[in-house]
Amino acid sequence: MAKTKKKKKQGVDCSDCAVCCTYLNIVVERPNDVEDVETLLSYVYHKNADLCLDEDGDWSVVFHNRCKQLDKNNLCKIYERRPYICRAFSEKNCHGDDFSESVRKHFSNEKDLMDYLGKKRPALYRKFRSAYSVR
Ligand code: SF4
Ligand code: SF4
Repeated sequence: MAKTKKKKKQGVDCSDCAVCCTYLNIVVERPNDVEDVETLLSYVYHKNADLCLDEDGDWSVVFHNRCKQLDKNNLCKIYERRPYICRAFSEKNCHGDDFSESVRKHFSNEKDLMDYLGKKRPALYRKFRSAYSVR
């Protein structure tokens, strides 16, 4: 993650990449009821925020925001004291520099999420639609 020097090429490579320093990925609960769906909707209503459902079935909200410690050359200004989460993430466990390839589903708006729930979680979708129709 946002190194200070070039690193060797091996699979994915940090040397010309700082993608993981340009977003925040926060794990959220799998939706199980109407309130959970509303919470997910509140995320996709925000600018520069998406929802992701990964290969393990884990949901997360991704905020596409560049770290303030990343300089204009895509190097970390505080590399020697970067936080643990930054130290733990590296070429060894990275899926690559294209974030979209590491996720199974990507929801950018209400329609994406509703389409998914309608197909994959029909009971929850009907419950949500029913609850919304009385508001
Ligand atoms: S860990 Fe992955 S996303 Fe982050 S800089 Fe390296 S190759 Fe890019
Ligand atoms: S602190 Fe440094 S390594 Fe961590 S996200 Fe910011 S720029 Fe990247």
